[in-house]
Amino acid sequence: MSGALPFGATIGIVGGGQLGRMSAMAAARLGYRCHILTPEPDAPASQVSAGVTLGPYDDEATLRAFATAVDVVTFEFENVSAAGLDILAALKPVRPSPAVLRVSQDRITEKCFINGAGVATGPWMSVYEHGQLAPAATQLGFPCVLKTTRLGYDGRGQAMLRGPEDLDPAWEKLAPKPLILEAFVDFACEASVVVARGADGTIAAFDTVENRHKHHILDTTLAPARISAEAASQAQSIARQLAQALDLVGLLAVEMFVAADGRVLVNELAPRPHNSGHWTMDACPASQFELHIRAVAGLPLPPATRHSDAVMKNLVGPDDMALWPHILATPGLIPHHYGKTEQRPGRKLGHVNRLFPKGGLPGDFGVQAALGPLNTA
Ligand code: AMP
Repeated sequence: MSGALPFGATIGIVGGGQLGRMSAMAAARLGYRCHILTPEPDAPASQVSAGVTLGPYDDEATLRAFATAVDVVTFEFENVSAAGLDILAALKPVRPSPAVLRVSQDRITEKCFINGAGVATGPWMSVYEHGQLAPAATQLGFPCVLKTTRLGYDGRGQAMLRGPEDLDPAWEKLAPKPLILEAFVDFACEASVVVARGADGTIAAFDTVENRHKHHILDTTLAPARISAEAASQAQSIARQLAQALDLVGLLAVEMFVAADGRVLVNELAPRPHNSGHWTMDACPASQFELHIRAVAGLPLPPATRHSDAVMKNLVGPDDMALWPHILATPGLIPHHYGKTEQRPGRKLGHVNRLFPKGGLPGDFGVQAALGPLNTA
């Protein structure tokens, strides 16, 4: 694709979840239509898009029908097969490229790529056979974390190993093989950077933010992260460096650990909009979704500036959603609903942003107080 996608053109999004929904809403603001590929009827993204191809991601006829309906393709989740994206890439431009997706789909490939780009991760070892596990654990030391290399998310597909007695049960439980064993990183906080890179190589990185999880699911993002200026700028450089090394066109989220001594170690990559970037929808002139669409459409990338500090709180499962009427009735809370009709426990159903004057992000107590009905302190 050369030049910018013309007004009225159709962006194909593989995946029908909330990330596709919010990307499609940003695309509409820029004058584009979106067309969703999803196996799920009435998916969150389909509800706000001009068209849908309903079918499995790995079915060639479905992929071809989808490609016919669109001008450029992007994706909103990573568990789509790279082979499927290759079929699409033969028919229409795919941004980010299938090669970028391949790196992020496999934790071993991903760690090799990150380390190969000169960026630090925690110590890790690949485990292809049962016999390799005990020696790897001896080398890395306990505690350590055993993970599947593919198809894991929100803490699924991993087990904490506290001693030798945990080795066999974890090996039995985790599938598919191979696995990866990571040293446990005793982090002071988890941070992330969402970075966009345009087709012309322009890079725009949002500020480094701090992420807090509950039950392995992102609960709250604080923007900016409450970490040293040095660690925050190290995180920025890492994100830019990885976007460049990947030859990315699109969006990349880099999840990191900030160690107690200030070292920044990369945990994983996601070449798509990311939950830890949802604060940008209200605290930045151009959100992560707008930058995603701009990069995919070949539009100029504005700087990823922040006009406010922000807290993003996820709404997970029916208990959080039961607070929706109270959220709507609380001034200052900015609600985002994903349109999901089935409200299972552990499912991300929406989020809330709360803004503060730039430089005015309060401490933990103030943050909780500002969340009103969502205050869990
Ligand atoms: P992941 O699926 O790799 O993003 O892991 C989910 C969460 O588990 C992370 O956000 C961390 O809170 C925790 N975690 C994963 N790997 C490690 C590790 N090597 N050391 C410490 N905590 C980890």
